[in-house]
Amino acid sequence: MNKLFNLKTATIVLVTATLFLAILIVIQQKNSENPFEAQVDSILNLMTIEEKLGQLNLPSSGDITTGASESSNVAKNIEDGKVGGLFNIKTVEKIREVQKIAVEKSRLGIPLIFGMDVIHGYKTTFPIPLGLSASWDIEMIEKTARVAATEASADGINWTFSPMVDISRDARWGRVSEGSGEDTYYGSQVARAMVRGYQQNDLTANNTLLSCVKHFALYGASEAGRDYNTVDMSRIRMYNEYLPPYKAAIDEGVGSVMASFNEVDGVPATGNKWLLTDLLRDDWGFDGFVVTDYTGIEEMVYHGVGDLQQVSAQSLKAGSDMDMVAEGFLNTLKQSLEDGKVSINDIDTAVKRILTAKYQLGLFDDPYKYCDVNRAKTEIFTQENRDFARTVGAESMVLLKNENQTLPLKKSSTIALIGPLANTSVNMAGTWSVATDQEKSKTVLDGLKSVVTDKANILYAKGSNVDYDLELEKRATMFGKDIPRDDRTDKQLLDEALAIAKKADVIVATLGETAEFSGESSSRTNLEIPQVQKDLLNALLKTGKPVVLVLFTGRPLVLVEENDTVPAILNVWFPGSEAGLSIADVLFGDVNPSGKLTATFPRNVGQIPIFYNHKNTGRPLGNKEGKFEKFKSNYIDVRNEPLYPFGYGLSYTTFEYSNLKLDQTSINMDGKINITVDVTNTGNYDGKEVIQLYIRDVVGSVTRPVKELKGFKKAFIKKGETQTVSFDISVEDLKFYNYDLDFVAEPGDFEVFVGTNSDASLKTSFKLTK
Ligand code: BGC
Repeated sequence: MNKLFNLKTATIVLVTATLFLAILIVIQQKNSENPFEAQVDSILNLMTIEEKLGQLNLPSSGDITTGASESSNVAKNIEDGKVGGLFNIKTVEKIREVQKIAVEKSRLGIPLIFGMDVIHGYKTTFPIPLGLSASWDIEMIEKTARVAATEASADGINWTFSPMVDISRDARWGRVSEGSGEDTYYGSQVARAMVRGYQQNDLTANNTLLSCVKHFALYGASEAGRDYNTVDMSRIRMYNEYLPPYKAAIDEGVGSVMASFNEVDGVPATGNKWLLTDLLRDDWGFDGFVVTDYTGIEEMVYHGVGDLQQVSAQSLKAGSDMDMVAEGFLNTLKQSLEDGKVSINDIDTAVKRILTAKYQLGLFDDPYKYCDVNRAKTEIFTQENRDFARTVGAESMVLLKNENQTLPLKKSSTIALIGPLANTSVNMAGTWSVATDQEKSKTVLDGLKSVVTDKANILYAKGSNVDYDLELEKRATMFGKDIPRDDRTDKQLLDEALAIAKKADVIVATLGETAEFSGESSSRTNLEIPQVQKDLLNALLKTGKPVVLVLFTGRPLVLVEENDTVPAILNVWFPGSEAGLSIADVLFGDVNPSGKLTATFPRNVGQIPIFYNHKNTGRPLGNKEGKFEKFKSNYIDVRNEPLYPFGYGLSYTTFEYSNLKLDQTSINMDGKINITVDVTNTGNYDGKEVIQLYIRDVVGSVTRPVKELKGFKKAFIKKGETQTVSFDISVEDLKFYNYDLDFVAEPGDFEVFVGTNSDASLKTSFKLTK
C-alpha cells in the first residue's frame, strides 16, 4: 500500500515537473520568438478599439498617389491615434514634424512607421530592377540595397516596399521592369540579396530599413499582361515556379509582406486565408506583418466578393495586418467586431504585429531615430554613391549585337548623337524612382561629352518625338518625365538629324521606351520601338554610316527588324542617376559590357508568354533551326525560339567553353557532384563572363522543364586567359514539388548544360540513385 502510494506520488511529481518544464519551455520559446511581447502586451492593454484600428491604418501622405483615392485628414487622424504609419513622405524635417504629432499629441504617443517605395536606389538611383538583375552580380545587387537603405534612412524613412520578386514571363506587363525577370532560381537569389542589403540582419541600426517583399503572390502572371488583371495558375506551377522567390525573402528574414492586387484561386490575395495564413505563416513560418497594396481592401469590392465591411473583415481574418489607403479597417472593423464578424483576438493579433515591428526598429526607444539632419546632409547622393551607381549602370547593360566590332567607339571620332532619349535627364532613372531628383540625372549627351572631353566631336540632334501618337506619348511621359514635344514637323526633325549624321564617322541612335512606357499600369500590346523612332532609325541606316542603337527599355522588346539591320545594339535599360556616364563608359570601352538578359526577348508578341524553362510537351519540335514541322508544337508563321534567349548577352571579347567535367557520374541522396568547365577569353579585351549551369531532370513523376538554371558565376577573365570554373550541385538543387506538393528529388538521369546563355550546348549527365 505504502509502496503504491509512493509510486503514485512519484508519478504525480514527475508529471507535474514535466508539465511545468514544458510550460517553461513554451514561455521561453514564445519570448525568444518575440522578445518584445511583454512591452507590446502592456501597450495593447491600454488601447481603445479605435486606437487599435488606428495602428492598422496606413494612409499615404498625399505627396504621391498611385490609385484613385488619396488619404484625407492625415494630421488630424494621427493626433486622434487613427494612423499606424505613413508613406510617400520624405525629408527629415517633414518626418520629424509628423512623428511629433504622433508622439506628443496622440493619447498613447505610439510612434509611426514611415514607408516608401525605395525600389532601385533612393536619391542615388541604380538601374531599374530588371536592368540591375541583368548584372548577375549578387554582391553588387545587395550593395545597391545597402546604399538605398543608408540614403533613405538618412532622410527619415524606415520601411521600404521592396523587393518586388514577382516572376514574369510576359513582356506586355509594364511591371516586368520592377522585378528580376523570368527565372525562379535567379529571382530567389536576388530576393535574398535585396533583403540582406536593406535589413542587414539588424533593424536596430539607424541606417537599415525594414523590407517588404511584394506582391504576394503571383502578380506577374496577370492574364494577357494587363496590369491588375486576373491570375489563374495550377498549384504545381505556383510552388515550383512562382512562389520560391517570396519564400526566399521570408527565409532571409524579411520583416513584412505586401499582398498583391490579383486573385489567387479565385480569391483576391488581400483576403485569401490560404495564401496569407496557411501558406505564409503556417507553412513558411513568417512572423512579420502583412500590408495590403494600395487600396487593396477596397478593390475587393470591385473583385465582387462583398461590400467594404465584409471585405475588410475577410481581409483581416485572412491575415492582412495593415490596410494601405483603403481605410476599410479603420472605418468598418469596429462594426464587424460588434456583429461578431471578427474577434478582438483577430484585431489584437494584427496590432501586435505592427507594434512588434516598431519595437524591432527601435522607434519606441527613439521615435526620431531616423531624423538626423546631419546624416541627411552628408549621406545622401554622395559622390561615392554616385560613382557606385555609375559602375552599376554599366554592369547592367546588355550588348545584344556587335557586328564587325562596331563597338567600342573611338574617343577621337565625330559622333552624331541622335534620338529623343539623348538629351533627357528626367527619363534616365526609369520608373518607380520616386525619391530621385530627376533633373540631376546625367543625360547621354552630358555623359558622352564628359568622357571624351575635347578628344571627340559630339554632335546632337533630337531626330524625332517619342511617338507619332501624341496621346500615347503623354501617357508614356507622366510624373514629370516628359520630353517636351517638339514644335517642328517630323520632317524638320529628321532633316536636322540627317544633316549632322552626314558630318559624323558614326551615329549613336538613342531610342526606345521612355521611363513611363513601362512600370505600373503601363502594359503594352505592341512591343516594338515606337514607329516614329523606327522611321528615324531607318533613315539613319540609309546614310551608310555605322549606326549604334543605344536602346532604352523597361521590358523585353520586339527587335527583329533592328537585329537584322543595325550593326550594334546596346540595351541600357534605364541606368539610373549616372546614366550618361555609365553609357559612355560602355560605348567607349572603358567598361566591357557583361550584362545578360534575365527575361527572354521574343520575336513577336504572339510568342508571349515565352521563357526558357518551359516543358517539352508530347510533340516537341525536332529541330532548332526554326524549320516548321506539321503536327509538332510550333507556329506556322514564326519559329519557336526567341530572338534573344534568357541569359544572353555579348562582350567586346569572346569566350570559349571546353572541358566540361563531372567528378562522378552517379550520386546518392546524400551526395554532391562537382562540375568544372574551362572558359577561355579568346578575344582582344579583358572581360567578365557569366557562366551559366542548367540541369534537366530527364524523367519525373510529373513533367519537368527542358532545363533549369541551377548555378552561375560571374568571372573576370583576362584576354588569352583560361579559368576553370567550378560548381557544386547537391540533392537540394535537384528537388521540386511533386504532384502532392512534397519537395523531393527523384532518382534517375540528369543532364547538365553549361554555357554563355540558356542555349548552352556543352552537355554531360549524371545519375541520382536512392
Ligand atoms: C503598387 C505597389 C506600391 C504601392 C505604394 C501600389 O500601387 O502596386 O508596388 O508599393 O502602390 O506606393
